[in-house]
Amino acid sequence: MAQPIYSIEFFPPKTPEGVAKLRETRRQLALLKPRFFSVTFGAGGSTRDRTLETVLEIQAEGLAAAPHLSCVGSTRDNLGEILETYKANGIRHIVALRGDLPSGMAEPGEFRYANELVSFIRQETGDWFQIEVAAYPETHPQARNYRDDLANFKRKVEAGANAAITQYFYNADAYFNFVEDCARLGVTLPIVPGIMPISNFSQLSRFSAACGAEIPRWFSRKMESYLDDVESIRAFGLDFVAGMCERLLAGGAPGLHFYALNQAGLTTTLWQRLGLQSE
Ligand code: FAD
Repeated sequence: MAQPIYSIEFFPPKTPEGVAKLRETRRQLALLKPRFFSVTFGAGGSTRDRTLETVLEIQAEGLAAAPHLSCVGSTRDNLGEILETYKANGIRHIVALRGDLPSGMAEPGEFRYANELVSFIRQETGDWFQIEVAAYPETHPQARNYRDDLANFKRKVEAGANAAITQYFYNADAYFNFVEDCARLGVTLPIVPGIMPISNFSQLSRFSAACGAEIPRWFSRKMESYLDDVESIRAFGLDFVAGMCERLLAGGAPGLHFYALNQAGLTTTLWQRLGLQSE
C-alpha cells in the first residue's frame, strides 16, 4: 500500500512577529516529519510575495513546500509569472484553487474556475508540478447541488490534478460517501481529508457557516455548554477530532492534511495521539 500522506497547512504571516512565530511553529512541526507544508495564497494575489517568501524559507530549511495558487482576480500573465518563479526556484508541488473574490473587488480575472487554472498549469509547465485541488465532501457552498459539484470536481481531475485535499468537515460519513461517488465516476486519485483542530469554538462556528462545513448539532450544543471553559473545549475537541481521524484512516483515507493556522500545539497533540508516521 502507498505511504500515507500527512501534510500541514500554514498561511503567510503579515508581520515580522508573525514570521518569527511561524518559524518556531515550523521547527516544532518539522519534528513530526510531514510529507509537505503548504502555504495559502490570498485571492487576487494579495499575498503573492509573502506566499513565495514563506515557501522559499521552508524549502531553505530542507523541508518540502507546496504553495497554493488561486486564479480568481488574476490574469494569465500574472499567473504565468508566478509559475515561472516557482519553477525557477525548484518548487514542484502546487495546490491549485479558484479562490474567493474579496468583497469590493469587482474584477473576476481571466479564469472563472479551478479546472481552468489546472489546465493552464499543465499547458504552461507540462508535468513539472504535482497538482493538488480542493474537494468538498459536504458540497461547495456556491454549488447548484451535490451532483453538479461532483461533476465539477471531476473536471479538475480530468484537467490534470494528481491529488485532492478536502475542505474540513466533522462528519466522516460525508467523506466516505464522497469518495465512493468519485470512484463510481472513475475518479480514483488520492483524496486527503482536511482536518481542522478545534481551539476557538465560537470563531470556528462562524467560519464554518460561511464555508459550508457542518458542525453536528450534538457536538455544537455540548461545546457551547462549556462557555468559557477553555480546557474542556480543548479536551473534548481533541477527543472528537482524534476519533474522526481514526475512523477516516481505518476506512482507507490516504492521509490527513492539518489546517494548523500557524500554531503547533493542537496539530502536534493530534499527530502524537494518532501515532502518525509519514515514512
Ligand atoms: P472550483 O473548483 O472552481 O469550484 C468553485 C465553485 O464553482 C463550486 O461551487 C463548483 O461546483 C463550481 N464550478 C467549478 N467548476 C465549474 C465549471 N467549470 N462550471 C461551472 N461551475 C463550476 N482560498 C484561497 O483564496 N487561497 C487558498 O490558499 C486556499 N486554499 C484552500 C485549500 C483547500 C484544501 C481548500 C479546500 C480550500 C482552499 N481555499 C483557498 C478556498 C477556496 O478557494 C474556496 O473554497 C473557493 O470558493 C473555491 O475554490 P475551488 O478551487 O474549490 O473552486
